[in-house]
Amino acid sequence: MEHVDISELDPASTVVVATGNAHKVTEIEAILSPVMEGVRFVALGQLGSFPDPVEDGQTFHDNAVIKARAALDETGLCMAVADDSGLCVDALDGAPGIFSARYAGEHGNDAANNEKLLRELEGVPAERRRARFHSSVVLVQRDEDGEEVISGEGDCEGVVGLSPRGQNGFGYDPLFHPDDTPGKTMAELSPEEKNAISHRFHALQDLAAKL
Ligand code: IMP
Repeated sequence: MEHVDISELDPASTVVVATGNAHKVTEIEAILSPVMEGVRFVALGQLGSFPDPVEDGQTFHDNAVIKARAALDETGLCMAVADDSGLCVDALDGAPGIFSARYAGEHGNDAANNEKLLRELEGVPAERRRARFHSSVVLVQRDEDGEEVISGEGDCEGVVGLSPRGQNGFGYDPLFHPDDTPGKTMAELSPEEKNAISHRFHALQDLAAKL
């Protein structure tokens, strides 16, 4: 990602996107720029290398706010967007939920997380494997009067399969069969197909409708 000098940015018209993932920035910009005219979206990673905040919130929303606030504190900018997401499985009382990235222990070990999910659901029949991806997105804006948090929530409904399939995407995609794409796991969808049905897409639409 191209480096951007913070001192060259106009805080009144810059949104820092609190993610290191370039694809998320593109997705967020595509949906929010039509309702935030004249605003430039810059990834936090383009502005420097900052420590990840401790995500110790109790909900996806809380963790998204923690990430957005950290990006504002670190950059001195006034507007930040952040998201937090994960997989919630009914038969596991909503787990892995906010612990999705480190379900098997190590942060971001997708293979170990998928193996653990299959183990936890061993013997659970197809009709009891209902789950959803959830995404919370927030826009945090600061001015001299204080702070405003505007949030969007979105889901992608489906079921957890019996074995992984597909090469695309990340995380639990190879095990997740969205209701919207019968016969295909999330990892068998093109990026465009996934973006059209994803929890992040729905959360961003929900947020955009409030701007
Ligand atoms: P994040 O909040 O987007 O970083 O997501 C946290 C974790 O949730 C990821 O490490 C994945 O395990 C899982 N997750 C979130 N979104 C997706 C998705 O679109 N596909 C698959 N897994 C996801």
